[in-house]
Amino acid sequence: MSPVPESTPPAATLARIRHALLAWFAKERRDLPWRRTKDPYRILVSEVMLQQTRVETVIPYFERFVQRFPTPQALAAAAADDVLAHWAGLGYYRRARFLKAAAEAVVNEHGGNFPRTAQALRELPGIGRYTAGAVASIAFSERTPLVDGNVARVLSRLFRIGGDLRSKDTEQALWRIADALVPAMAPGDFNQALMELGAVVCTPATPRCGSCPVAKECQAFEHRVVERFPLPKKRRATIPVRLASCVIVDDSRIAVVRRAPGTRMAGLHDLPAVELAEDSDATVALSNLAQRLGLVVVDFERLGAAKHAITHHQIAIEVFRARLRRRTKPSRGSTATVNEPDRRIAAEPDPEGIVFVEAFALDGLGFSALGKKALRLARTPND
Ligand code: SF4
Repeated sequence: MSPVPESTPPAATLARIRHALLAWFAKERRDLPWRRTKDPYRILVSEVMLQQTRVETVIPYFERFVQRFPTPQALAAAAADDVLAHWAGLGYYRRARFLKAAAEAVVNEHGGNFPRTAQALRELPGIGRYTAGAVASIAFSERTPLVDGNVARVLSRLFRIGGDLRSKDTEQALWRIADALVPAMAPGDFNQALMELGAVVCTPATPRCGSCPVAKECQAFEHRVVERFPLPKKRRATIPVRLASCVIVDDSRIAVVRRAPGTRMAGLHDLPAVELAEDSDATVALSNLAQRLGLVVVDFERLGAAKHAITHHQIAIEVFRARLRRRTKPSRGSTATVNEPDRRIAAEPDPEGIVFVEAFALDGLGFSALGKKALRLARTPND
């Protein structure tokens, strides 16, 4: 592998790459909803949604979100529950909370106007170097670079940068090269072109070098070593999680818990659920959980099972139905769990947070993707 470069590539090479990429982007750019605007708020929403999430998934969420919260003022004034309900299913819910906090800062500290430079944007809650670079270059045409996963891969191949792309030295080198590349004219288009190239041509597994506008400048392509760049990331070991979830029915109403503040997916709703130790019985664990919530439940019936993945957790979930016999005093007994409290997949049960909701009203609540899957199973049982 090549060492991390200490200098930037020759100016003539950078100029040729710039020219070729901008010409290619002008012809090939995908028509995406956030590309039809220079509104910094909409660009910020799209950039935050696109972190860790595919473009095709983001499009309908983006459209619903900006329709419901069309301005930073609307987002700042919205109830946190409403914001989470519009994020439900996208995952990584901290992003929604940061986005709302950023909108509040724009309204309360900047008179409703976005700061116009990457440096000032980074003062907003939850906005890192990449997002600040994207908003500043696209909305305000600031000549400022950005490096995301796509850009890092493209640069690593173009300039044969080896080593771990997340190491400090390599990261600094990537930002230095991105800074040298970004032009004063159309910096937003150029940054988007670089990301677009990584998204549709210079893809991780099967780059289409034959259709690449910068193939002539690409060192990995020239030396036939594309597959060696970038160095593959070390995979985190997956953690298996066994989960039991329960539809507790009281006439036409169903018990729903709200995830406690400070826990994973805080503020979202879920069916009562419990993580199971390897040898524990699901209905016993669910009965214990119900007791902790002040509910005596009977007549367990197994509705089905499903698999779900959250980051590196592989979840096997079984869904049951049970009937509420009576309410009692919540107890403080413990339930067997696999993960530490702040990493638990099942909603941390909060006796104060349990509510019985009419079945028809469930769709109006923000459920996690896992909660939605359990609900679907409850509505259409399977094995
Ligand atoms: Fe990526 Fe291939 Fe283009 Fe090089 S030539 S930038 S490896 S697509």
